[in-house]
Amino acid sequence: MDTPRVLIHAHRLRRRVRQLGRELSHDLAGQRPLFVPLLDGCFCFVADLVRAIHHPDLRLHFARSSSYHGGTQSSGEPVLADIPDCTGRSVVLVDDILDTGNTLSRMSAALRAAGAERLLTCVLLDKPARRQVPIEADYVGFTVPDLFVVGYGLDHGDRHRHLPHVCSLAAPDADSPA
Ligand code: 5GP
Ligand code: MG
Repeated sequence: MDTPRVLIHAHRLRRRVRQLGRELSHDLAGQRPLFVPLLDGCFCFVADLVRAIHHPDLRLHFARSSSYHGGTQSSGEPVLADIPDCTGRSVVLVDDILDTGNTLSRMSAALRAAGAERLLTCVLLDKPARRQVPIEADYVGFTVPDLFVVGYGLDHGDRHRHLPHVCSLAAPDADSPA
């Protein structure tokens, strides 16, 4: 399971992220948004997303959540770190992929407890097949099948984050357009 195959090409990512930026610019008008992206996986997504948003008072604070520890199965209990003070802010929690839902639901609770006036969630990818917690994101880039994906920030044991496309990891003898 090591050969990345293109699932979502960079040009489709670009187009969709720009659309999400336009929607968020519209929905956040007149509010005080604080974007909270979860490192490491969403560094590409959030970099493109915030540059597609027009707003005079957008703030950004990176937080961290880890549940994989190098494998392809979530360890269940995400470890959260660097939760910001959210008092009086419309918080936009940004993650790379919504899978079991544990990360998004726990992080949402932590941000509400940190004073968020309003909480919106935005994920690049949604993998609904594996949901354990009943949660949906307010903004979703793409819905993907139950495959382990890498690229555009997502890793497998710290590899493949730099790929410009979202790829699935296939058997080593599969075709590799990457
Ligand atoms: P959840 O808590 O929803 O199960 O998992 C969310 C986190 O698991 C994501 O932020 C991401 O870091 C990781 N994750 C879930 N599915 C995948 C996947 O297919 N590929 C990679 N690289 N990470 C994943
Ligand atoms: Mg993550």
